[in-house]
Amino acid sequence: MLNYDLVVIGGGPAGLAAAVEAKKNGIDSILIIERDRELGGILNQCIHSGFGLHEFKEELAGPEYAQRFIDQVNELGIEYILNTMVIELNKDKEIIALSEDGLINIGAKSIVLAMGCRERTAGAVAMNGYRPAGVYTAGMAQRMMNMEGLMVGKEVVIYGSGDIGLIMARRMTLEGAKVKCVVEISPQSSGLNRNIAQCLNDYDIPLYLSHNINKVHGKEKIEGVTICKVDEKWQPIKGTEQYFSCDTLLLSIGLIPENELTVNAGIEIGEVTNGPKVKSNMETSMEGVFSCGNVLHVHDIVDFVTKESRVAGKNAADYIKGINDSDGKKLFETEAGNGVSYVIPNYVVSGGKDGANLYFRSRKPYKKVEVKVLIGDKVIKTKKMPAMIPSEMVNIPLSPEEIANLNDKIKVEVKEIGK
Ligand SMILES: Cc1cc2nc3c(=O)[nH]c(=O)nc-3n(C[C@H](O)[C@H](O)[C@H](O)COP(=O)(O)OP(=O)(O)OC[C@H]3O[C@@H](n4cnc5c(N)ncnc54)[C@H](O)[C@@H]3O)c2cc1C
Repeated sequence: MLNYDLVVIGGGPAGLAAAVEAKKNGIDSILIIERDRELGGILNQCIHSGFGLHEFKEELAGPEYAQRFIDQVNELGIEYILNTMVIELNKDKEIIALSEDGLINIGAKSIVLAMGCRERTAGAVAMNGYRPAGVYTAGMAQRMMNMEGLMVGKEVVIYGSGDIGLIMARRMTLEGAKVKCVVEISPQSSGLNRNIAQCLNDYDIPLYLSHNINKVHGKEKIEGVTICKVDEKWQPIKGTEQYFSCDTLLLSIGLIPENELTVNAGIEIGEVTNGPKVKSNMETSMEGVFSCGNVLHVHDIVDFVTKESRVAGKNAADYIKGINDSDGKKLFETEAGNGVSYVIPNYVVSGGKDGANLYFRSRKPYKKVEVKVLIGDKVIKTKKMPAMIPSEMVNIPLSPEEIANLNDKIKVEVKEIGK
């Protein structure tokens, strides 16, 4: 069996930042395990710009952002293996991975889970008709076009207005395809406002809100779709059907954190996030196992992934050195109060040396809100925001002083303060 102090599962931006941080904090024996052919994760296929504004105060493309961390991994001499997939993690922090040379057993003092997320596929949505050729997830089409140089189709309908779908609407248009429309079942888009403006409005691509795909036409190859308007209960409204011919249907219907390893290892999972429950030092319910990035909760901005992953890497290093910020200290739960769908971390360490970074999302769109962070009934922080939408994650850092005398739950709530 191979033995390392730290094993990082997943070589995307989360795993890379965690490994770099652990190395900077004095850990030399580190292994990153990546199932793909190169490091960088999903960022390798995100060739559009918009990454790194918080982290580097520059606008980078996805591969450029990833490269900055890959360079650090190489400069610091951090070991990694590619084309190797971790297939099992047990309670003794032993890992079984499938590599090109067969199975490898690896023991670790500490582990960082950074496996990212995958997209929901056509089987996850109710649409009449077959699932013929020409139906892709938006991310698969993104990979085929941006990494393999393959054009997936010429007449496109996009189902779901998540960011990946919106970005692919623009990408396919720029490559010469006709994007007929984007169909969204909710009354509002689940993508960022800037992506609606830059990827749809700038190219005159219609967005049909409160609409669903009624039927997929075609058996061997997709020929078209029928869409229709839906009521508040998402039931089809008769007489509103419209047919669009197409040779491609892209699905942008949500991301699922890749937690099969986590669940099988018996680590506690959050109901709303579908990621492991973590303390403010990013430690999961299994001692010495930390988590960060999209496997923990789906992020919209990679800069936040990096910030969070540094905390995981630093605390994994401390754990290996025998220091655990949560050792012998009381943990207080975080609670999603009025208007908030979830809060990460799930537990805050009372008197933690690094404070806590709260990440959360609103349940629905709001205009002019005040966000309050409370310990019990006492408000410890407020933040006024001109608008809040579920697709934009909000971050409020709490200093060590603010949580020094924690004696109750930490609640985050949203209150509308007028138009
Ligand atoms: C399809 C898609 C498109 C996206 N487009 C954008 C965008 O345009 N703009 C934006 O800001 N954000 C985008 N995101 C979000 C972006 O992915 C995240 O901000 C960021 O990449 C998350 O980093 P991560 O390291 O947590 O996950 P990832 O980048 O997904 O990296 C996880 C890595 O873990 C590896 N892995 C998983 N399981 C195993 C295993 N068992 N063994 C070994 N390796 C494993 C994967 O191969 C992958 O390389 C997109 C996400 C997806 C899924």
